[in-house]
Amino acid sequence: MSTARTAVVTGAARGIGAEVARRLAADGMSVAVVDLDESACRSTVEDIAHAGGTALAVGCDVSDEEAVTAAVERVATELGPPTVLVNNAGIIRDNLLFKMTTADWDAVMDVHLRGAFLMTRACQAHMVQERFGRIVNLSSTSALGNRGQANYSAAKAGMQGLTKTLAIELGRYNVTANAIAPGFIETDMTAATAARVGVDFEQFKEAVARETPVARIGRPADIAHAASFFCSEGAGFVSGQVLYVAGGPRD
Ligand code: NAP
Repeated sequence: MSTARTAVVTGAARGIGAEVARRLAADGMSVAVVDLDESACRSTVEDIAHAGGTALAVGCDVSDEEAVTAAVERVATELGPPTVLVNNAGIIRDNLLFKMTTADWDAVMDVHLRGAFLMTRACQAHMVQERFGRIVNLSSTSALGNRGQANYSAAKAGMQGLTKTLAIELGRYNVTANAIAPGFIETDMTAATAARVGVDFEQFKEAVARETPVARIGRPADIAHAASFFCSEGAGFVSGQVLYVAGGPRD
């Protein structure tokens, strides 16, 4: 019989995070739906409740140390020790290097890298105590380099280095850490990218699909499926990996 687990999914009010939260709940986990604004988490929580699962809305800026400590304590008290963590919260502040502001660099580093560091450090205490943990970090194909994304590509490459180090340090406690590097997934984030470059979103999606080996763009469910595998009880010998979920080879 499997043990009931508690999962924390950051940036889960919408997009990929919301789908990952719904999927982990369907897999039988209690899920803390974490996002900047607690009220924005309600629709994900309601979806999970309607499907018969258990979820809690938690407002938290993942780059704020005190807020992260308080959020993880609240999750542990109300749902149980968080032994599954998906560091998904993310933002983009795209611009060509010569136009990129220091504030845009810092904002992206803060949410992706500082946020994942703070969340992981807070949750690993519970994982080590429980002698079980599953950490999944959202990287991106942009980690390989992408025009206009000096900040984001550096952060997403950083997520891969963080993942491998977590795998090495925490493995002895039965804690695994893996990264998912999505290609183009249809969400508000990619809609914003289309708007920034002045291309109609439908045309943008068609153009990406034409260049993708499986001839379609990605959906949040494609990422949720990979996250479900990495978080599963049976994936305990898979650690420190980066899985490109991009409709073709990107490595
Ligand atoms: P999204 O639709 O923009 O959702 C991101 C969520 O993160 C939003 O709900 C956002 O809240 C939240 N968030 C932002 N800053 C936060 C903070 N400091 N603390 C807590 N939550 C915060 O993005 P997505 O497309 O689902 O992307 C999810 C993850 O996948 C990101 O890490 C992204 O970089 C990565 N990814 C996405 C794609 C893609 O094609 N979509 C490809 C590769 C990687 P607000 O709504 O309040 O801002």
